[in-house]
Amino acid sequence: MSGRKLALNGGVAVRSAPYPPWPSLGPGDLDRVSDILKSTHWGGGGEAVEAFEEIFAQYHDASFGIAVSSGTMALELALHALGIGPEDEVIVPAHSFVATALAVSRVGAAPVFVDIEPDTYNIDPVRIGEAVSDRTRAMIPVHFGGVMADLDRISTVASDRGISVVEDAAHAHGAEWYGMRAGGIGTCGIFSFQNSKAMSAGEGGILITSDETLAARGRSVANAGRLPERGWFEHFEIGTNLRMTAVQAVLLGCQLERLQDQVRLRETNFRRFADGLAEVEGLELQRAPAGAIVQTRYIVPGRVDEKRFGLGRDEFVAAVQAEGVPVRPFYPHPLYANPVFRQVRHRTLPCPAAEQATRDSFWLPLRLFMGTPEDAADAARAIAKVHRASRPRPAFPTNGSAAG
Ligand SMILES: *Cc1c(COP(=O)(O)O)cnc(C)c1O
Repeated sequence: MSGRKLALNGGVAVRSAPYPPWPSLGPGDLDRVSDILKSTHWGGGGEAVEAFEEIFAQYHDASFGIAVSSGTMALELALHALGIGPEDEVIVPAHSFVATALAVSRVGAAPVFVDIEPDTYNIDPVRIGEAVSDRTRAMIPVHFGGVMADLDRISTVASDRGISVVEDAAHAHGAEWYGMRAGGIGTCGIFSFQNSKAMSAGEGGILITSDETLAARGRSVANAGRLPERGWFEHFEIGTNLRMTAVQAVLLGCQLERLQDQVRLRETNFRRFADGLAEVEGLELQRAPAGAIVQTRYIVPGRVDEKRFGLGRDEFVAAVQAEGVPVRPFYPHPLYANPVFRQVRHRTLPCPAAEQATRDSFWLPLRLFMGTPEDAADAARAIAKVHRASRPRPAFPTNGSAAG
C-alpha cells in the first residue's frame, strides 16, 4: 500500500513500475523488416510503399494515400496541392503542434488562429465562422488527442463558403466520426508516424484523400514532379522528394494490423481510469462531442480547477509525477505566442480558452493506457491520493457557539 503521505513529501509512490514503452515492436515485425532489408528495394515508390498507401487510405475511408517523410511534410503537401499560397488565409486552432500553423506559413499563406473549445480542446466551430474572410481558402481542424473535432459543424461553415477542410489527424489514427474514419471526411487528411505517434516509423507521414485531382497533384509534387506512366527523368511540376522508404512502410503495415485492437485497449483502459476519478472534485478530462464515437487516446488532456481540487496545475503535475504517473503540463503557450509569429504574417482572434488551457491543463500520454486496466487505474489512484492530501479542509467552527 502506498499510504496517504505524498511521494513528493517522502511517502511511498502509488506506482513504481514503469508504464509500457512506446513505440514497440509486435511479433513478426522484425522478420518483415529484415525481409525488406534483404531485398534491394529500401527506398520509396515500390510495392511495399504502394501496398501501405492503399491499405492505410482504405482503412480511413479514402481512395488515395501518398506516403511521405513526415506529418509536417504531408500538411505542406496538402496545402501546396490545393494551390494555397501568398494572399491566402488558412484557419488553424490556437493549440496544436506547431506544424499545423508552420505548414501554412511555409506555403506563403497566413495562418489565422482561432480559439479552442474549453472542454474538447478542439477548434471552436462558432469561432471559425467569425474568422472567415474573403481570403480564407482552407481550415485545418486538429483531432486533438484523438477526439474528433466536430466535423458536421465545421463542414457546414466550410461548404457554405467553398473552403477546403484539411483534417490534421496526426493524433487520430483510427478515430471515428459517426462511423467514418478520421482523415477521410474532409477534402483531405494527414497523419504523422513520428516516434511518439500511435503508429510510428520513427518519422513519416501520409496524405489521404478521395479527390483524384488532388491526389495526382500531391503524388507528383512528392515525387520530383514525375507523372505515372512517364519517364523517370521527365518532370512536370516544381516537385521535391518527400518519399517514404520501404522500410518505414513495412513497419507501418505491421502496426496497422494491430491498430484497431490497440485503440480498443486504450479506450477500455481510459474508461477504467476515468471511473477511478469519479470521486475526485475539480478535475475535468477532455470531453468528446456526440459524433466522436471512437477516440484514440493518443494523449488525454484535462484541467485542474485549483479552488475545488486544492492544488494549482503545476503543483498537481509535480505531485502526480512523484506518484509514478507520467503526466505533463499542457503547451506553455498558444501557437501564436511562438517567436516565429512575430516575424510572419498571421491573424489571431481572441483566444481566452486557449490561454486558460496553458495555465490549468495537463495531459497524460498514450503509454499510460497501453498496459492493463489496473495500470490505468493506478493513475487514477495516484490522482485521488493527491486530491485527498490537498483538498481544502472543511471549515468547522472553532469557538463554543456551535456546541449544543
Ligand atoms: C506530430 C504532429 C504533426 C507533425 O508530424 P511530424 O511527423 O512530427 O512532422 C502535425 N500535427 C500534429 C497535431 C502533430 O501532433
